[in-house]
Amino acid sequence: MPSARISNPNAEEVSTINAIPVLNDNIIWVWSKGTQAVVVDPAVSEPVKNWLVSKDLTLIAVLQTHHHDDHIGGTKELLNYWPKAEVIASGADRERIPLQTISVKDGDQICLLGTNLLVIEVPGHTKFHIAYYLSFKNSKNQSPALFCGDTLFAAGCGRIFEGTAEEMYLSLNRLSKLPDETRIYCAHEYTESNLRWASSIKPENLVIQKRLKDIVELRKKGSLSLPSKIEEEKLTNLFLLAKNSREFGELRLNKDTWSS
Ligand code: ZN
Ligand code: FE
Repeated sequence: MPSARISNPNAEEVSTINAIPVLNDNIIWVWSKGTQAVVVDPAVSEPVKNWLVSKDLTLIAVLQTHHHDDHIGGTKELLNYWPKAEVIASGADRERIPLQTISVKDGDQICLLGTNLLVIEVPGHTKFHIAYYLSFKNSKNQSPALFCGDTLFAAGCGRIFEGTAEEMYLSLNRLSKLPDETRIYCAHEYTESNLRWASSIKPENLVIQKRLKDIVELRKKGSLSLPSKIEEEKLTNLFLLAKNSREFGELRLNKDTWSS
């Protein structure tokens, strides 16, 4: 007997956020609701396309956090397949993210998949890096989410390529003020190595040691360590614990030259 799909118009559709790990350590996040999907920083196109097609999802938008190739590399191909999809990116970085159709700046709000998306400028890794915050205010039982590219990582932060330590420090500070329960969907799986570094700097910090132990177990099982949570980062991310931009700059320099 053929199976029928019974849809309940009263059931509130919930958003889901899924990870597609690609390349060495990139994570492409797919945020979907019903039959529509939004993809964050598609480094490559093939695995994303296959995943969306297998789930009968239509791509309606791509969110770009910054111009690096491991974040925008798959966008063009995805647009060939879903030509109506919007590309949301920093208007100030139009030259380096040329496929953008909706150009945004700090404080802009966009409605996507029935939810409000807030744009937060977080310069430091690159000059025009942006993050996207979903408060999910009107959805019950859904924690706020942050897509923050290469700015805030679990137990770490992005390298400073185009900005200053001061800028990056302020950017991270802004993100750390988001609600404690905010889930952090960053663009790389660096957590274990970040925690090894942190525990070498602060061997006496038992919260960091415990987190490292948990993450090592998780990774051994082949699970991702992400998303993280603002609350957790405020306790164990040394870059968020730095008291000022000078201390932050010293930590960043130390991490740049650290090898496990
Ligand atoms: Zn980057
Ligand atoms: Fe990256």
